[in-house]
Amino acid sequence: MGVGVDDVTNAEAVAIIARWVEETQAGALPHQVVTTNPEFVMTARRNRAFRQLLNRAALSTPDGQGLIWASRLLPTHRLRQRAPGVEMVEMLAAYAAQHDVHIFLLGAAPGVAEDAAAVLAARHPGFAPAACYPGSPDPGEDEVLCRMVMDSRAHILLVAYGAPKQDFWIQRNIAAGRLRSPVAVAIGVGGAFDFISGRAVRAPRIMRRLGLEWLHRLYKQPWRYRRILTVVYFGLLVARDALKLRLRRN
Ligand code: UDP
Repeated sequence: MGVGVDDVTNAEAVAIIARWVEETQAGALPHQVVTTNPEFVMTARRNRAFRQLLNRAALSTPDGQGLIWASRLLPTHRLRQRAPGVEMVEMLAAYAAQHDVHIFLLGAAPGVAEDAAAVLAARHPGFAPAACYPGSPDPGEDEVLCRMVMDSRAHILLVAYGAPKQDFWIQRNIAAGRLRSPVAVAIGVGGAFDFISGRAVRAPRIMRRLGLEWLHRLYKQPWRYRRILTVVYFGLLVARDALKLRLRRN
């Protein structure tokens, strides 16, 4: 479907990010990380700029179970496992706590990032966020928000404005040179702060293991049914392509 995804586990992604943080040089631009899921791919089908953004990102983690299933059905590299963004944030907090690395939590509703940071600090002693700020993805605020991030001396910037807004926000502010070292990595993390702060509840372990977290989200947040339908449509497109290829081979 024109979107590349890296076959990385969360542990591998965190190791790559840690290397970028440790190797960053004065004045260097940050690496952009995207946490790709089937909704991203569906948006990218219609939105060329987003497709390019995803393909040019320094790292694209397989956040959605649909991608894992698709990679098993289609004649492409098989993704080993899902790398949920929310779990990557947890692992980054653990790494940051141990290495005196600072994380800025940008986005989500007022108070949510602070609560998420408090939860992370309780779970990972030594974790101290560079700062938290809700802000807005409105381009009119770019200058002020980036100044705030730079002044915080953060090494890792997590942006929770939902896709594709958060990813375009990161892309344009890196391109404009508003974000630079010591910020070594900027990551779009979607609803991660809502989950970590406890505002939203993740699916039970058994559902996660079966790859049904998206179904749980539909049950908990039924108003998001349109977004879930997009994921179902993604599945139908994958099934159609897989069938076509099989018929062509026979
Ligand atoms: N969000 C925000 N500003 C906006 C739009 C969204 O801060 O203009 C936040 C929202 O509060 C949530 C996060 O972006 O914490 C991600 O939202 P969503 O659940 O849609 O993300 P997903 O994980 O599905 O991409």
